Amino acid sequence: TLRPIALAASLIALPAFALAQDAIDRKVDALLKQMTLQEKVGQLHQLAGAEATGPQAAKRASQMSEIKAGNVGSVLNIKGAKETREAQALALQSRLKIPLLFGLDVIHGYKTVFPVPIGEAASWDLEAIEQSAQVAAREAASAGIHWTFAPMVDIGRDPRWGRVMEGAGEDTYLGSKIAAARVRGFQGAKLGATDRVMATAKHFAAYGAAVAGRDYNAVDMSLQQLHEVYLPPFKASVDAGVATFMNSFNTLNGVPATGSAFLQRDILKGAWKYKGFVVSDWASVKEMVVHGYAKDLSDAAVKAINAGSDMDMEGEAFIAHLAQAVKDGKVPQKNVDDAVRRILRKKFEMGLFDDPYRFSDAQREQAVLADPQHRAIARDVARKSLVLLKNNRNILPLAKNAKSIAVIGPLADSRRDMEGGWVVSDVRGEVVSIVDGIRNHAQGAQISHAAACTPGCATADGFDAAIAAASKADVIVLAIGETWDMSGEAKSRTDIGLPGRQTELCQRLKATGKPVVAVLFAGRPMIFNEIADNADAILYAWFPGSEGGNAVADVLFGDYNPSGKLPATFPRNLGQIPISYAQYNTGRPVTDEKDIVYRSAYIDSPNTPRYAFGHGKSYTTFGYSGVQLDRTILRPGQSATLSFDLENKGKVAGTEIAQLYIRDMVASVVRPVKELKGFTKVHLQPGERRRVTFTIDRDTLAFFNSDLKWGAEPGEFKLMVGSASDDIRAETTLHLQ
Ligand code: BGC
Repeated sequence: TLRPIALAASLIALPAFALAQDAIDRKVDALLKQMTLQEKVGQLHQLAGAEATGPQAAKRASQMSEIKAGNVGSVLNIKGAKETREAQALALQSRLKIPLLFGLDVIHGYKTVFPVPIGEAASWDLEAIEQSAQVAAREAASAGIHWTFAPMVDIGRDPRWGRVMEGAGEDTYLGSKIAAARVRGFQGAKLGATDRVMATAKHFAAYGAAVAGRDYNAVDMSLQQLHEVYLPPFKASVDAGVATFMNSFNTLNGVPATGSAFLQRDILKGAWKYKGFVVSDWASVKEMVVHGYAKDLSDAAVKAINAGSDMDMEGEAFIAHLAQAVKDGKVPQKNVDDAVRRILRKKFEMGLFDDPYRFSDAQREQAVLADPQHRAIARDVARKSLVLLKNNRNILPLAKNAKSIAVIGPLADSRRDMEGGWVVSDVRGEVVSIVDGIRNHAQGAQISHAAACTPGCATADGFDAAIAAASKADVIVLAIGETWDMSGEAKSRTDIGLPGRQTELCQRLKATGKPVVAVLFAGRPMIFNEIADNADAILYAWFPGSEGGNAVADVLFGDYNPSGKLPATFPRNLGQIPISYAQYNTGRPVTDEKDIVYRSAYIDSPNTPRYAFGHGKSYTTFGYSGVQLDRTILRPGQSATLSFDLENKGKVAGTEIAQLYIRDMVASVVRPVKELKGFTKVHLQPGERRRVTFTIDRDTLAFFNSDLKWGAEPGEFKLMVGSASDDIRAETTLHLQ
């Protein structure tokens, strides 16, 4: 008679979530049983919606009939409550009425444009980053979108690669934290809320390590690097519950990621027990033919699905060949069923079987897209993303009562260049340019503006007029940098300097004798040594988004004390690339000992970068003191607490991002001289002092060891805290037993 009670108790012990999952799995299985092979393959097919009017109209019409026939599981690149509703209505006319998933690249905003992701990463502000993703999700979801192809969690250590713009920079620890924050922001606590969307961790894997920084290029790397540097942000995304993965265009050690069972089956779905689905990158299944990995489209389809790619984006390979390949015995039925199950599960979790139109509500769309709160948040995130690189003689902040300011440069009033790449065409809101932002702030001042050249700055025709305007002003704000279309996908550069004649423009302005405040825009670390040497102040603004002009002006006039820190190393020259703070010591490190001639150094350049990872200035200064470790020996099961006092030593309130680095002094695999393992963002009033703590446990000290396993090895660890990777303020030692 005890049995029923025990049973009830065990049911209660099961989390509600697991019960719901179980119920969904049963529904998925029931539906799967009713599906024909063709209908199953249809679910694995994602097509890119053609334009409804114009030259693509005929293609569009045929796509719509495919949807009606049940041959499509998902559509990308259509948006808006009305348009998605129309397409969904067709899916509901198919035999099994399986709703479509609508996907879109909502990378840094939908209507309200936020800073490009590398810019947001410079905030090191996980709450702000989560909030930005949440706003983007809210706007997109109101326009019928279920699914964004973001975040890109690829580590990028080569600024020639244009897609460093879309990631969180070079560091694994920071990148993992940001990946999880973005997933939380896009998805919320549980899939299915109509103000959130499914996220995608992309591009699995190692896409950022393309040889020579050329987009799509091959990747060849050790398993150590892969597991330690490139995979953790993906694992963090899994742990944060990311709904989907996207694989990548590149080969990894000779095998296209899209055809890699090692990545998708062994690691992702095996070791990590991932339950979501994997979408291919755009036509990446088909591209395996071009790689020389599949002999034709059919072979590509077979290799992709067998390797664990679940959905074919725009490739036409699955839809054309999978059914036959199953009949021919080249693809086990269970591989197709598993892929279909994964996709259907997400459609259930998104609530689309209960109400297929729940995201496509024109009234909500209108209200949400007009929400003024979103712009306020965008401004806040943008100012947190700005990095002050130089501030000679405290020229910044500019006095509120400055009499005359010349705003010069091709990007000073270029709205499109504030947004950066990967914005959603025809829905974006207003953009505040730098000129607008400065006018909004310095209302009493005389503001003159001269572009001096077009954004690419190919000619100097406008320089004279700009110099004339600048000569009459008290201070020059110079807005230069890459144009929005110089970074992003397929935007690799072999020269990451300022475009055209922008450097010359700066030199001529400097010659006027007036102070020059350079505001630099870019989607990547650039090389700008002349500006670094000669400008009086430099603010690195990335592409700051819709509210960029206001955010920049907030910092220029001191309404916001800059707090951003570089999420990537800024090299001095191209020859140093790839360069990261997390280097390994050679047996011949650069030291002060003059008699060592054969050193690991360049004969024509220092090893050090122009600006180090973690660097960023403030209008105040911070002191670090009283570093303490609560135990110096870490025994199994224990954790240690490192603490120190952080003090604002200046006259204005400010925010410091304090950083913890470690070094494992001796290990079975040589460890980097520094690895970020913690950071905290602290706001302090002038004179205020606060005790800051970091917790260190075995996981903090673990790495991918010589047995190809994660683990920490006993021995001595150096712990370093500081304001940047090259500005360590205190060190101490911890022994792991
Ligand atoms: C990119 C992906 C993107 C996809 C869909 C591809 O070319 O690599 O990041 O999500 O296109 O637009």
